[in-house]
Order: sequence, then structure tokens, then C-alpha cells
Amino acid sequence: MDQIIIGIDIGGTTIKIGFFNEDGDIVHKWQIPTNKEAQGAHIVNDIWNSVSTKLSEFQMDKKIMGIGVGAPGFVDNKRGFIYEAVNIGWVDIDLAKQFAMHTKVPVFVENDANLAALGENWKGAGNKAENLIAVTLGTGVGGGIIANGSILSGVNGTAGEIGHAVGDPNGYPCNCGRVGCLDTIASGPGLVQQAMDKINANPTSNLATFHSTKGYITAKDIFDLASKDDEICKRIIERTAETLGVALANAATVINPSKILIGGGVSNAGEQLLNIVRNSFEKYSLTRVHQECEIQIAQLGNDAGIIGAAYLILQETNKSMTEGDVTK
Ligand code: ZN
Repeated sequence: MDQIIIGIDIGGTTIKIGFFNEDGDIVHKWQIPTNKEAQGAHIVNDIWNSVSTKLSEFQMDKKIMGIGVGAPGFVDNKRGFIYEAVNIGWVDIDLAKQFAMHTKVPVFVENDANLAALGENWKGAGNKAENLIAVTLGTGVGGGIIANGSILSGVNGTAGEIGHAVGDPNGYPCNCGRVGCLDTIASGPGLVQQAMDKINANPTSNLATFHSTKGYITAKDIFDLASKDDEICKRIIERTAETLGVALANAATVINPSKILIGGGVSNAGEQLLNIVRNSFEKYSLTRVHQECEIQIAQLGNDAGIIGAAYLILQETNKSMTEGDVTK
């Protein structure tokens, strides 16, 4: 192995880091906590200290081909600039420049959901599709779109933010400042919020008893209760999956993908969720759109982001070579 690639996925709670060989295989991976003190001012230093330690521990003083970094929020991938990452506290952070203070190797920054889409498409369930939509249902709803073989970025890096497509115009307030985004329905907290509404409206229901006994409720509880035929939980899941299906049908009508991948913690529900999403998707999309589009669960779990980051480096390095511009 002559060169290594470093993939980094910065999340609100942990930062995942991986060393990869030139084939994109993980050589070593680990994670560190995200230090959100001082609006995340220590994060790049923390990452670099950890990477340096591991490099010497593994005696990997070999050439680093590049560093790919994923971050949540609105990212200008051409400049490696983060406009805003609410979970971390970042506003107007020149991330590529901060890394450049530690190393001279190329650094590329991309939105974390876009990197997860690239990772899943390269080594996971995407199977190298030319046109693909990947959504992550976790603490929020993330989205990444690959169109004609490339990540769709848009004019300022906001393309594919399917979590902020409107699912219910009369719904819950979203942390983006608007109302009814898919994020407020199909994320883990969105499911819990729906359950809390039902509990308050039906204080004698099984669901309310379950909640008062346990003291809280999770998205997983809602799926578990639904599989035991709890009517309220079944309705919550139906509404959630149907709303997701409508959003995916609209997005698929725009880009005509061969695959839609659903990942994140909520996707652990598997077919229980997918069956309703598929029905809704078929109902709300053109036959030509859904007849060649498979909806599947993502495969790479938490590694999707760092694998996508490694892919980004290989892609960008090849691009630079073919353009004869190695300074990019
Ligand atoms: Zn929103």
C-alpha cells in the first residue's frame, strides 16, 4: 500500500474517522466525541491530533492521497466552506482552510448526507447506480442525490435536502424556521412527537399506559407496538411512511432514479416501513418513474459517510489528473 486516504464524518455527537487504501477498503476506523464547546472551535484540532496519533501508531507515514470530510448542514463543496451546521454550532466556517493549517494534502468537504449517498452507491446497496436518491432517517432526515453519475449540489450546495421538502403544510414547526418539513415527521423525533400528540389526545390508550410506565417512548417502541397490532402506532407508521412515499415520489419524478436507499436508525424497521413507503411511492409517481426504481434499505450503516469521503478523494484526484490540474 503506497498511499492512504483519510475519510472523516463529523456528526453532532461523534466524529468517525477512517484510513483507506487506494481500493477504498477500510484499513482502520475509529471515532472521537464531537466537542461542541466554543461553537465547535476545537473540532479540527481534535481531529488532527487524533489522526496524527493514529498515523504514528500504525506507522503510516506514507503519502496521504487526500482527506475527505463530511459535515452536516449547508456546505459549499467548491470552497470547502460550511455556511451553517446547526447541530455543531458552526456558522461560516472555512473548514478546508482550517485543515490546510495542519497539512498540505488536498482536502475536500461535502455535506454528510451527500457523502453517505456516495458511499452507499460505491460499496453498499446502490451498486454504482447512475441515478440514485439516498435518505437517512435519524435524528433528522438527510438526503443525497446522485444524478447522471455525480452528486447533485445545486447553486449553493442545498440540492437534495429532502428533509426540508414539505410533508404536511399544517404540521409541526421545523428547526429550519418553517412548518411541516419531512424532517418533523419521518425522523426519530418526528415519530416520537406524533406519538406524544396521540398520547395526550388518548390518555386511556395502551400507548399512553406504555408511555407512563416506561417514562418515555422511542421510535423503536412505536414500531414494536405496531407489530403487536397497536392501532395508534400502526396509524403513526402509516402516516409517516405515506408522507415519505409522497416526498420520494416527487423527488423521483424530478431525477428518475433506478434506486432509492433508506438508511438511518428509523430504517432498522425494515420491511415494516418499506412496504408502506413502496405502496405510497407507486401511488404518487408515474409508472415510468416507479417501474424501474427499487426502494431498498441502505447497507453500510455508520460507515457510509467515511466510505463516501474516501470515494470523493478518489473521484477528485482522478478528475485533477485528467484535467492536468493537480493543484486543485
Ligand atoms: Zn425544515
